[in-house]
Amino acid sequence: MTTNNNHFDVIVIGAGPAGYVAAIRCAQLGLNTACVDDWKDDDNKPSLGGTCLNVGCIPSKTLLESSEKYAQSLNDFKAHGINFENISFDVSAMQARKNKIVSELTGGIKQLFKANKVTHLVGRAFIKPDHHVEITDGDEKQTITAENIIIATGSSSVEISSAPLTDNKIVDSSGALAFDQVPEKIGVIGAGVIGLELGSVWRRLGSEVVVLEAQDAFLPIADQKIAKEALRYFKKQGLDIWLSARLLSAEVKKGKVELNYQQGDKDHQLTVDKLIVAVGRSPNVKQVWDESVDVLLDERGFINVNEQCETNVPGVYAIGDVVRGPMLAHKGSEEGVMVAELIVGRQKEVNYDLIPSVVYTHPEIAWVGKTEQELKASGIGYNAGAFPFAASGRAKALGDAAGTVKILADAETDRILGVHIVGPQASELIAQAVIAMELSASSEDLALTMFAHPSLSEAVHEAALAVSNEAIHIPPRRR
Ligand code: NAD
Repeated sequence: MTTNNNHFDVIVIGAGPAGYVAAIRCAQLGLNTACVDDWKDDDNKPSLGGTCLNVGCIPSKTLLESSEKYAQSLNDFKAHGINFENISFDVSAMQARKNKIVSELTGGIKQLFKANKVTHLVGRAFIKPDHHVEITDGDEKQTITAENIIIATGSSSVEISSAPLTDNKIVDSSGALAFDQVPEKIGVIGAGVIGLELGSVWRRLGSEVVVLEAQDAFLPIADQKIAKEALRYFKKQGLDIWLSARLLSAEVKKGKVELNYQQGDKDHQLTVDKLIVAVGRSPNVKQVWDESVDVLLDERGFINVNEQCETNVPGVYAIGDVVRGPMLAHKGSEEGVMVAELIVGRQKEVNYDLIPSVVYTHPEIAWVGKTEQELKASGIGYNAGAFPFAASGRAKALGDAAGTVKILADAETDRILGVHIVGPQASELIAQAVIAMELSASSEDLALTMFAHPSLSEAVHEAALAVSNEAIHIPPRRR
């Protein structure tokens, strides 16, 4: 371990879930590690955790939970024999709870840095030649050096010229997480993960929500049967989702947002109180390194890396949203661990084929591996088994029985190729599929495993049995 105050074994740039995990793992492995981050909270205090903890995964999940509890008390508790009178909610209390959870978790990373002896440096990092990193925080500047640099600068919401962001009318996901009142009518551009999750929060709290999605298919990266089933549930909840609808312009007029969009060959108008732009995110690669350092980008503007997250510059790595692959916190974290292990000469790989995806709507959507449409397109023979939560005793008892588990297994070897779930606790259930697939399980392996009764997991078991048409709690498919 090096001990010079300005020289480190590793400098990690960015303290999101990719960067902070990389820094902690480097320190655990005995490397003298600094992590540089410039995120400041509303009180201008440094806040670790990046987008995920400050304005992404965690705050959105807290608001999704609060709004879902309200929706349940309004719509579902009666069926359990529980009656409320005068149900109401307080957006500022929900926001305060969210902010408290965020500050507890970001503070938790600060503690972990201390406990692991990671040096936390506040400011914006800029890579100069010979592994020098200049850090600027207001008027203060310092330069540090390291054998290894890990770029984990994350991503930012894509802005579109047809809907330029304004202070509080046309907003991105961060703005939509901070509304202090429930808008009467909200427009959402993009029926991706963010559009669906934030649209759900405000719909449950009473907003009328119209989602405009440019593509013809709904959630094209998900298994299309599962996506279509989810779309039916969302429409039933009152999310007004329009496919093949491309935004042409959005303008704030007299306190409202006036939209023009095209669907088919027709132009349409829509007036909303707030517009959420959720059309994707782009990697943060600007002003991160000096021209002479020459870190190469790929054709899509991400930092070009190999399977091991090495860039073209020796000793410089890049991980998380700033490199190829899905923009998911857990993918970035695993890359961070892999790079830390590589630096100390150990072998570790990320299995890019088995990254679980989750959409935290209600019901949740989760999947891992290949979709049915991907298998068809690549000509791989498969058998499919599906089990509806409507036939699950536990799901019925929970009053949460909408959804399906679907398993796809290789027609010759029976190896599980993909698992797709829409339904209660899909985000938790999918972990079983990831473990099974990591261990190269067949659908028969899952079918031969005992699952606790009554549990939601039994739906995974029954879907595995259904691959060979042997599910117990649904009628056999006609042969
Ligand atoms: P996304 O790429 O998932 O969805 C954006 C959608 O906007 C696409 O369907 C696209 O077709 C549509 N679109 C683009 N331009 C449009 C236009 N002009 N008019 C209408 N529709 C348009 O992006 P996102 O939802 O912004 O999320 C960004 C990233 O963050 C994603 O990679 C996502 O995986 C990640 N994320 C993940 C989670 C999670 O894991 N639960 C939550 C939030 C974000």
